[in-house]
Amino acid sequence: MFHNHTNSYDIISMNNFGGNMKIKSLEELKLSGKRVLMRVDFNVPMEEGKITDDNRIKAALKSIKYVIDSNGKLILLSHLGRVKSENDKKKYSLEPVAKRLGELLNKKVIFVPFTRGKFLEQQILEMKNSDVLLIENTRHEDFPEKKESNNDKDLGEYWSSLGDLFVNDAFGTAHRAHASNVGLATNSKESAAGFLMEKEIRLLNQVIQNPVRPLVAVLGGAKVSDKIGVIKNLISIADSIIITGAMAYTFYLAKGYSVGTSLVEKDKTDLAIELMNLAKNKIVLGEDVVTAKEFSNESEKNIRDVNCIPNDEMGMDVGPKTLDIYFKTLSNAKTVIWNGPLGVFEFSRFQNGTKKMAEMLASNRSKINTVVGGGDSAAAVIKFGLESSFYHISTGGGASMELLEGKKLPGIECLDKKKGF
Ligand code: ADP
Ligand code: MG
Repeated sequence: MFHNHTNSYDIISMNNFGGNMKIKSLEELKLSGKRVLMRVDFNVPMEEGKITDDNRIKAALKSIKYVIDSNGKLILLSHLGRVKSENDKKKYSLEPVAKRLGELLNKKVIFVPFTRGKFLEQQILEMKNSDVLLIENTRHEDFPEKKESNNDKDLGEYWSSLGDLFVNDAFGTAHRAHASNVGLATNSKESAAGFLMEKEIRLLNQVIQNPVRPLVAVLGGAKVSDKIGVIKNLISIADSIIITGAMAYTFYLAKGYSVGTSLVEKDKTDLAIELMNLAKNKIVLGEDVVTAKEFSNESEKNIRDVNCIPNDEMGMDVGPKTLDIYFKTLSNAKTVIWNGPLGVFEFSRFQNGTKKMAEMLASNRSKINTVVGGGDSAAAVIKFGLESSFYHISTGGGASMELLEGKKLPGIECLDKKKGF
């Protein structure tokens, strides 16, 4: 029998690969008339009670609309910020989110300003099919005791008693075991992954478990120590690994180069050598860097060879020869995993490397499937307005990192498996 490429690929990635693809999907649940507890990630940035970016709310709409259209009674839970005092409770209320969600859905969203109690229970009792209710910030349960973040047993049990089913669509917190994800899942009779969660797992797992090759990893960012797990896991998976960003200077130091005042982790040079030995010739470094005397956007810039950065200068961005080396490495790539900016992209004067990389990958969208993981890398792509030209930009910084490290995420593992597994 003749399979077209797309179909056979889907079959492979669904059944043989991706441990997590065994997870039951929202589509497999019978929702009509059911109280559906759904954990979403509404941890949106706010300034003085106003939402400054509603992308996270938008990212959850697909699952939300599906439950509404399936005549479920939707009860939403999310965390917002960190709650360490009574004052933080006022500061981190989900009320503005309920309002914004109502606008996006063009539908009334019932907001309950409590995380438990008679009023909440009564509101749920009065819900009709397709109604949407949002419970107050789950982290209000973190003060005075850290019940939410420590996955308090009674809290998970209580929340699960408010519904019939549990759906986890909060990929961004899947690397944490909290009462509102793991607690809810383990106490609910039936649980499943929402559409956003499913998409994140599928696309991230696809690139590490079944990539179209060559696979090139572009790993930058601030610290080697944050990325050890990712580098180690990708050494055995990727065909080439570009080490860039501030992290590269620890590798340069390990090679005996003078790195001036660049951000380095002196105690990680042995590790850098170990990684280079482990990777054999897979690791690609640079030849030149853009330096500055001060960590500031006003500081004058110079281009220096990596092996002779003056004592009073620090590497802030990659140089032109280095970009050429990277682009040569990427010229045959079919899949790219990008985690970590190439330089201090927050300063316009030192954003060139990160921007050129984003533009190159975006303009090769038809040849290269690029998956971007990591909060700052995603922010960089969005800053340059190129997010629509990428195969996948993960919505979960820490969670995407842990998947790229090959770890199992507690917020995913606790969900029901598909039938037959
Ligand atoms: P991600 O969130 O994508 O995983 P990281 O958090 O590891 O990325 O790193 C992002 C940070 O690294 C950015 O704030 C950026 O300014 C910084 N960075 C990149 N290159 C340098 C450099 N040469 N010197 C100092 N900081 C750098
Ligand atoms: Mg970061």
